[in-house]
Amino acid sequence: MIIKNCYDSHLHWQGIGSFKCRLNLSEVKSLNELNNLSPSKQNYRSNWLLGHGWNKSIFNDSKSPVKYLDKLYPETPVYFTSHDIHCVWLNSTAIKALGINNKAWMSEFSEYIDILDGEFTGLFYDLAKDNIDKKLPKYTSDQVREHLLIAQDELIKAGITHIRDLTCSQEQLNQALKLEVNNQLLIAADLFFKLNTFDELDQHIANVLSFKTKQINKLKVKGVKVFIDGALGSGGALLTSCYLDNSNGFKLFSDAQLEEIIKKCFANNLEVAFHAIGDQPSLDVCKILLKLKKEGITGKVHLEHVQILTDECINLINELNIVCHMQPQHWCSDKDWLHKKIPKEALNNIFRWADLEKKQIELFFGSDAPVENLSIGNLLKCLGESAKNGISPLKNDIMKYISYPGRSPVKSETYLDSDLNVDKVVINDKVVYQA
Ligand SMILES: [Zn+2]
Repeated sequence: MIIKNCYDSHLHWQGIGSFKCRLNLSEVKSLNELNNLSPSKQNYRSNWLLGHGWNKSIFNDSKSPVKYLDKLYPETPVYFTSHDIHCVWLNSTAIKALGINNKAWMSEFSEYIDILDGEFTGLFYDLAKDNIDKKLPKYTSDQVREHLLIAQDELIKAGITHIRDLTCSQEQLNQALKLEVNNQLLIAADLFFKLNTFDELDQHIANVLSFKTKQINKLKVKGVKVFIDGALGSGGALLTSCYLDNSNGFKLFSDAQLEEIIKKCFANNLEVAFHAIGDQPSLDVCKILLKLKKEGITGKVHLEHVQILTDECINLINELNIVCHMQPQHWCSDKDWLHKKIPKEALNNIFRWADLEKKQIELFFGSDAPVENLSIGNLLKCLGESAKNGISPLKNDIMKYISYPGRSPVKSETYLDSDLNVDKVVINDKVVYQA
């Protein structure tokens, strides 16, 4: 199988490299095995030790993981993410450095913190983790550039030559530009600036516009990415119904803010990408766009993930010309527990790529790496498996969804063997990877 201009339509470029640089905890089977790890310089962010990939089963009976880390690392602040990235495990030095050991913080994020006898267990989830992430020391410019290069190696090994990055920042862009100028950039990247707070909007727009005046070959800044809800696994994705335990997810921006973001981006000819996992935020965005369309305000919008979509929403997406980006590997990760989490009416509306295809809605596939593995073979296998497990299969040629749709200065062929492993990658007539 040969894929031309092999495209991953949703990933986190620097994240792929930075996770690769974290202390690898994925092979750790018990707390005792942590003693055997020896961190390298690459694992540090300033004086903080970063690790990734642990599985909850390593805690076994330990009720207070924080104490275990304190014994091993009494002085160094430690930050270890779980394999699904939804949880971070901290030691006491880290908690102290973050300044989160106070009533106000604990009550703001109470739903997302494990507490035992009034004390932190060391585990912090979703919104608490996001807040902690914002307080971490910054990577140096050299580290950011190194992450981008490491990620590029990983991408090429995985056969991917065209990416759409959803978490760009000004620093990442500066370093990516350096790679391009130094002829180190082999892949092509469409970039979206991640909006962390509503107040950042004007600055982001100014940054994107100033970039657009530069003559750059392989990098394209397309617009702004807005997180609306969370993930299904942690119950953060917002549903039109609610979860089986009667809880529901969250919405990080109000409709008025979403409308303002869309209007400002459209006025500056920028695209907007919305992270929408539950069916509610997709519907909310569509309704805002419909209202704006009636006022004559139009532009390009992307919906990311769309893991649950109602019929009403699919009809609106069709009418509004929205591009959808889905990740078949998320179906593989979610399939075993989804029925225990969401009600039947929502289960009937999961992973509706076939219904989007039927309406000829523009659709692309990606990995969401580093959340899922960078593997086009795995993506295709998950699609195949989903079709055998009740998810309507696609009818069109799969190439339509995994090849870069536009003109590109990077022309590539990715050769997969019969097991869907990458055999060879050719970029602009040069072999850049051979298995
Ligand atoms: Zn993502």
